[in-house]
Amino acid sequence: MKITDIRERSFPLDSPLRNAYIDFSQMTCSVVAVETDVLRDGKPVTGYGFNSNGRYGAGGLLRERFLPRLQAATPNDLLDESGSNLDPFKIHTCMMSNEKPGGHGERSVAVGVVDMAVWDAVAKIEERPLNRLLADRFGGDVPADERVYVYAAGGYYYPGKGLEALQDEMRGYLDLGYRDVKMKIGGASLTEDLARIEAVLDVVGKGEHLMVDANGRFDLQTAVAYAEALAPYGLKWYEEAGDPLDYDLQAALAKHYGLPMATGENLFSLQDARNLIRHGGMRPDRDWLQFDCALSYGLVEYLKILAMLRDEGWSSRRVVPHGGHQMSLNIAAGLHLGGNESYPRVFQPYGGFADDVEVVDGFVGLPDCSGIGMERKAKLYELLQTV
Ligand SMILES: [Mg+2]
Repeated sequence: MKITDIRERSFPLDSPLRNAYIDFSQMTCSVVAVETDVLRDGKPVTGYGFNSNGRYGAGGLLRERFLPRLQAATPNDLLDESGSNLDPFKIHTCMMSNEKPGGHGERSVAVGVVDMAVWDAVAKIEERPLNRLLADRFGGDVPADERVYVYAAGGYYYPGKGLEALQDEMRGYLDLGYRDVKMKIGGASLTEDLARIEAVLDVVGKGEHLMVDANGRFDLQTAVAYAEALAPYGLKWYEEAGDPLDYDLQAALAKHYGLPMATGENLFSLQDARNLIRHGGMRPDRDWLQFDCALSYGLVEYLKILAMLRDEGWSSRRVVPHGGHQMSLNIAAGLHLGGNESYPRVFQPYGGFADDVEVVDGFVGLPDCSGIGMERKAKLYELLQTV
């Protein structure tokens, strides 16, 4: 077999919503298609990948560095031992040739997008859902989970959005079948944010059904002020209080907040994830880790991160990836993670799961189709075919 074509294109995300740090009106997303000469149902197998929201598309890097390396490679550099399928590990090595260590965020999105497309193609060539392929190859003797815990991430700051609109949004998520919801904090004053939190608690009932996300906005003093104000609510978690690379802040905050915290979506490599575990004071009995493969070199790197966590005494069930995409959903099911983020009405058409998959009491199943399952999401598939 061989790769016959690799195409990439950037699309606008084009969304007016805002968190504590950025608005998404100028955000872009890279989409990659890896086409092979393997035929299934009479058509060449094509794998698709895209990057998660929160980081811009990486078209320049893909065109200048990573795709040319794959195009110049020999079949032996890209294929598995049988020669009949792609080898994601070899492809990762090929893309990372001539790259220095460190500086991960500069390129981890570009590599992650290609990695997603490669795994999609690998599973399609094997004619299996990716989650089952992952469980077989890397999940020990445990089959893939049949359903995955999901929560609805929303509660963004929109221009002119008041408390009633926020409550309506959250009520909508519960109506869709979600049990837990997440909202942004740190984009308003503490007083205003507490009013927003209480408005959402009126809808979801208990604090255990609500997470809050500061998107790395706070200094230690502000993070602690929020921690003290949040503690009485008993929230499910307090997410990304300070700068994602300020491990000292995270560790200091843990001394002021005994309840669960979450972070990791802006750490893009094994080394950064390991530093969080070494120095961030994260507690394996209650905290949550949110590394997102689509932003951090893809699944090849993610497998190394999961192995590191195992060695450090963390259960894979404490990992609930950021991003709300089907790749992480497959990883969550196949590698027995704790769940997956979900964006029911934002970041479309990338966010969300197959069209016919329903959320039932906060869990989703996975479609029975080969690959990641993007073909089962009509609006996304329509866009992928234009790449
Ligand atoms: Mg977040």
